[in-house]
Amino acid sequence: MQIQVKDISKIYGMGESEVVALNHASMTIAAGDFISIMGPSGSGKSTLLHLISGLDWPSFGKVLYDDTDIHHGNDKTLSAFRRRKIGFIFQQFNLLPVLTARENIMMPLLLDKKQPDKAYLQELSSLLGLEERLSHLPHELSGGQQQRVAIARALIAKPDIIFADEPTGNLDSKSGGEVMKMLCDIRNKMNKTLVIITHDARIAQMAERRFKIIDGELSEVTA
Ligand code: ADP
Ligand code: MG
Repeated sequence: MQIQVKDISKIYGMGESEVVALNHASMTIAAGDFISIMGPSGSGKSTLLHLISGLDWPSFGKVLYDDTDIHHGNDKTLSAFRRRKIGFIFQQFNLLPVLTARENIMMPLLLDKKQPDKAYLQELSSLLGLEERLSHLPHELSGGQQQRVAIARALIAKPDIIFADEPTGNLDSKSGGEVMKMLCDIRNKMNKTLVIITHDARIAQMAERRFKIIDGELSEVTA
């Protein structure tokens, strides 16, 4: 699936309190691309990712997945589309504290009334080193393990595209490095499109295409 981001802007607030978080951003993401986006805090990185992934609506412009304008339909159509096609990894993991690792991973399937694929869960757990941790609650896991659970959750519905918003931002450099290595290995093995936001130049360098964003202005910097 190809994603075309066409001249999107996001303006928060009105009048005196108006903030232009994203200013006429355009990019084309081909199937299988590995893209990193770097930028200082407050530059519009999360806003961009939320618009591309359908978590939020642009003020102007549009986002096409192949020929479908994802912001055209209603809320329900968009959430169903997101659950099936897109995996999202957050800086704060966003695991449900009362559910075990296994239950957290399965959540997107439950929401879609789909049957879990046991062999696939087994494969993901093994690739992410989680086999012995599936019955644990999030607070019984380290930060790196929690993020690996969140990665499995992002992948369980077999989406084509993974978006990650500073996935190592809450981790120390060792567990952050492990998480990134696993994410890259899985992306290679399963042929996913991966778009990752990061503060870390070493992580940005791992991507095949690199973008920067400053004050809401997006540009490609791939050498
Ligand atoms: P980043 O992820 O690069 O740190 P964000 O995309 O979160 O940046 O934010 C970009 C700008 O938009 C910032 O100035 C931020 O304060 C502002 N912003 C983000 N979300 C909102 C919101 N819901 N309401 C008002 N302003 C917002
Ligand atoms: Mg952010």
